[in-house]
Amino acid sequence: MNKILPADYHTHTPLCLHAEGAPEAYIDRAIELGLAEYGISDHAPQHPEPFDDWRMQEKDLPDYFEWIARARHHAGDKITVRAGLECDWVCNNQAWNEELATRYDWDYLIGSIHYLGGTGEEWDFDHTKWLGRWAELDIEHAWKTYWKEYARMAKSGLFDFLGHPDLIKKFGYFPKGDLRRFYEPVIEVVAEAGVAIELNMAGLYKPCEEAYPSMDFLQLAASAGIPITLSSDAHAPSEVGRNFEQGIAMLREVGYNSSCLFDGRVRKSRAF
Ligand code: ZN
Ligand code: FE
Ligand code: FE
Ligand code: ZN
Repeated sequence: MNKILPADYHTHTPLCLHAEGAPEAYIDRAIELGLAEYGISDHAPQHPEPFDDWRMQEKDLPDYFEWIARARHHAGDKITVRAGLECDWVCNNQAWNEELATRYDWDYLIGSIHYLGGTGEEWDFDHTKWLGRWAELDIEHAWKTYWKEYARMAKSGLFDFLGHPDLIKKFGYFPKGDLRRFYEPVIEVVAEAGVAIELNMAGLYKPCEEAYPSMDFLQLAASAGIPITLSSDAHAPSEVGRNFEQGIAMLREVGYNSSCLFDGRVRKSRAF
């Protein structure tokens, strides 16, 4: 019986303006839980600035690197601290994501979709300020658009793993019928692209009340051999590694017995 939990690579810092806690507190929690590794992946800057009020700006990058250094210093040889970013896939920003990749010696970059709509019309569908819009829009169409973009993001080759696969369900607006009609085409593209995905436990605390992605998606991903990583999406030290025992049980149920480690943007696999 292996007592060390998988790595938690999706965590935030107060630089994004909606997370709290000192680097030392996050690291202490990671050590206390016995995580294999700890990864920092705050919301990346996005252009044109200010893009929104829930991310660091480009001028904050040096503070972010300082945060990572502080975390590593505190961790010493007790836990490996990895450096990442949660990048946004929004309309026509591929060049900026390529530029971000050169700004630091990253261990991994996460690709996430929080926005839908064309340039100038982007709306962050996972933000509570848009809740009213969800009650009016065509849910089937929103899901189609989301998954089409998710497949484009997978194909871009810019990211090491893809964040919260079915975040589009956050507020509990689901199309009618079997959702595998959305999952199957995107899983084919993700598998072909050779990129990993995450099982993100934060969805349990959102109106949808389930992890991202759903068990149906996870089952298809496992069958397609897509590499997996387990994430808390912590925005506070107490949330690091949250629900990991449950996450491991979900992964085992669909046939996973290993998860990813990332070092200098090279992926390895580790049994759990
Ligand atoms: Zn956040
Ligand atoms: Fe996110
Ligand atoms: Fe996040
Ligand atoms: Zn996230």
